[in-house]
Amino acid sequence: MYARVIVDINASALDKVFDYRIPDGMELTAGWRVKIPFGQRTTEGYILSLSETSSVEPGKIRDIIEPLEDYPAILPHLLKLAEEICECFHCTMSTALRLMIPAQMRGNKVHVKTETAVRCALQKEELIRYQENVGKRAVRKKILLSYLSDREEHSLKDIRAVVHDPKPLLDELQKDGVIDVYQRELKRAPLIYPLSGNEHTLSEEQEEVLGELLFALQSCSGQKPGPNRRCFILHGVTGSGKTEVYMRLAQACLEQGKSVIVLVPEIALTAQMVSWFEGRFGSLAAVLHSRLTAGERFDEWRRIRRGEARVVIGARSAVFAPVEHLGAVIVDEEHEPSFFSESFPQYDAREIALSRAKNENAILLLGSATPSIYSFAMARKGEYVLLEMPHRINGKPLPEVHIADMRRELSMGNRSIFSVVLQEQLRKTLQAGQQAILFLNRRGYAASVTCRSCGTTIKCPHCDVSMAYHKSDGLLHCHYCGTEMPPPVRCPNCGSSSIRSVGIGTQRVEEELRRLFPGVKTLRMDSDTTRSQNAHQEMINAFRAREAQVLIGTQMIAKGLDFPQVSLVGAILADLSLNMPDYRAAERTFQLLVQVAGRAGRAEVPGKVIIQTYQPDHYAVASSVTQDYRQFFENEFSRRRSQLYPPFTVIARFLVEAKDGMTAKEEANKLAEQTKAYFNEKKIAKRLLFIRSDEAPISYIDNRFRAQVLMKLLKHPDSDRALADLSAWCSQNDGGTTVSFEINPASLA
Ligand code: ADP
Ligand code: ZN
Ligand code: ZN
Repeated sequence: MYARVIVDINASALDKVFDYRIPDGMELTAGWRVKIPFGQRTTEGYILSLSETSSVEPGKIRDIIEPLEDYPAILPHLLKLAEEICECFHCTMSTALRLMIPAQMRGNKVHVKTETAVRCALQKEELIRYQENVGKRAVRKKILLSYLSDREEHSLKDIRAVVHDPKPLLDELQKDGVIDVYQRELKRAPLIYPLSGNEHTLSEEQEEVLGELLFALQSCSGQKPGPNRRCFILHGVTGSGKTEVYMRLAQACLEQGKSVIVLVPEIALTAQMVSWFEGRFGSLAAVLHSRLTAGERFDEWRRIRRGEARVVIGARSAVFAPVEHLGAVIVDEEHEPSFFSESFPQYDAREIALSRAKNENAILLLGSATPSIYSFAMARKGEYVLLEMPHRINGKPLPEVHIADMRRELSMGNRSIFSVVLQEQLRKTLQAGQQAILFLNRRGYAASVTCRSCGTTIKCPHCDVSMAYHKSDGLLHCHYCGTEMPPPVRCPNCGSSSIRSVGIGTQRVEEELRRLFPGVKTLRMDSDTTRSQNAHQEMINAFRAREAQVLIGTQMIAKGLDFPQVSLVGAILADLSLNMPDYRAAERTFQLLVQVAGRAGRAEVPGKVIIQTYQPDHYAVASSVTQDYRQFFENEFSRRRSQLYPPFTVIARFLVEAKDGMTAKEEANKLAEQTKAYFNEKKIAKRLLFIRSDEAPISYIDNRFRAQVLMKLLKHPDSDRALADLSAWCSQNDGGTTVSFEINPASLA
């Protein structure tokens, strides 16, 4: 037998299959990882398929050395998915296959952890007879034997707690054939805090939505459901109980012997979602996210691979989880940009999820209070099925939202970062012993140091971005390359000494709050305070246990968290993200504001939300006051149509990075010309609506200069073919110039 193997070396020249002979007696199938000789060395590879013949001359073909695991690491449908990814992103097969396994499995960098275990090997009566013959003075031996007489498995660690230095005794007992001593696997489990696993009695809305989903799930088991009964979008307002629907769907999958993948955007949310799922599904649930240690990740992955865990909850890469019999993929907060991968291949986890659902005959459920414009448009077209839960659980009202016009505050002489109305509401909330959340919108924004005389802003010497002032160490930080330096005393441009930090960080909010309300207990959650592995979860628990009255944070607190005692939410600078250089700025702002408002009034206490803004008339802000998704959607959709933005078009760009600006720009110009020529030659120039080569919005990062060719294409099969062809132009030359190609990139920086 021969195996067709992909060598695990990422070089396009090696991106083809090599034949190897399978030595007699070695049982292998497609999907196994194997150790193979390659040139003068040995390396790792993946078996794509088996064959009875090979075109390689018999004398030249080499043998597989050994399998790397005792099971195929890549399941058949994931092999197929890897092939699709290759084709779609023009990456090598080994790059695609690497997505399917924990990184440290390659190169054997992570191992199964074991411990010594002991178990009685005798029958009950035999053991009693043996015990009777133990001398009176052998007290320790007696104790140990009576400890082991339950004939259960005991770890060496536990035995040590019973008798001191048990090794010689164990050796003796093993020699007498009384006990078995062996190694057993020790699972490295991520720290979890399960929340109550009780089921709720479903509301009418939940019942109806679930009914549709279960019907589709059922029909997946029989014949294939029609293409438009597979993908569902659940639009449920904040607090409508989407999580309960997800859990019931997962339960139904388990009952039918199927598995579920639940994708959640980021760690703050992961934490709470995981707690709920753990509470309900116990060890049938597994977690996969970036904060796990290599060992934890490996162990969780293997539990999934072995079919012990059949409910997988994780961040975007969990979409590649090795589950069999997939019943459903659920994507919570589906509008979140974090479902796009930032590194190559830049996949969208929702699209991968859809491919898997199609290939494996499962259903896809995309849930959100603020669906992405793209998904909602798909529902309108009838490609996705729209499910709605327009009311909160138990008839709770949506929170009351008020606008504070910060332009008026300033003209009335209020220089505080808190509007008068927010101050008043904070006072009331604290007096009533309730909790508040203060949210600072910092997406695409950081506290910079600016000269008040000439307006110069301090930028990173290596990157084209403003540096952010960190109060904790008194330094300016560049968030792109990590450069740190003390802030200048005088303006480097005009010499003025009135140069200081403008804009607001969470620390400033905290200080001002303490000044207004001396003695108030606060918790601050941002990327600085949540570096350690469990910091997020600990802060969430502390706030839930009411150890603090006010939680201050960035977007990481906006989503998914359920704190019953929060009655007030203040958005300090609500509209900052409206100014991002991105066609999705309005969409992102609206989503953030609705999500953050949704944190208020979730239990007994009714909720109030204060949105502080300089642009109260912008439709994204106005619609968030009424929390009217439809109204926002209609506005945004018609704007996208008239300005020809996605979903009506596809935005793509070449990003060129080079050592100097001239090279980058010249390469970009060349690519632009080449692109135009391509479209002319294929006679599809009318599909190309716009093309422009220019500096990238951030024109250098870490001294690498960045230029781009931005283009807008009409949505059409011609365009799809063109995009596939263009993405083959990515390159990396010896001079250090790299060209990458991005289709609908998550960020246009
Ligand atoms: P969403 O994700 O839609 O914002 P959640 O799933 O967080 O809403 O649910 C909001 C709250 O309602 C949670 O505390 C949840 O436990 C509770 N809940 C969900 N379904 C029910 C139900 N059928 N009956 C009572 N409480 C429910
Ligand atoms: Zn100046
Ligand atoms: Zn920098």
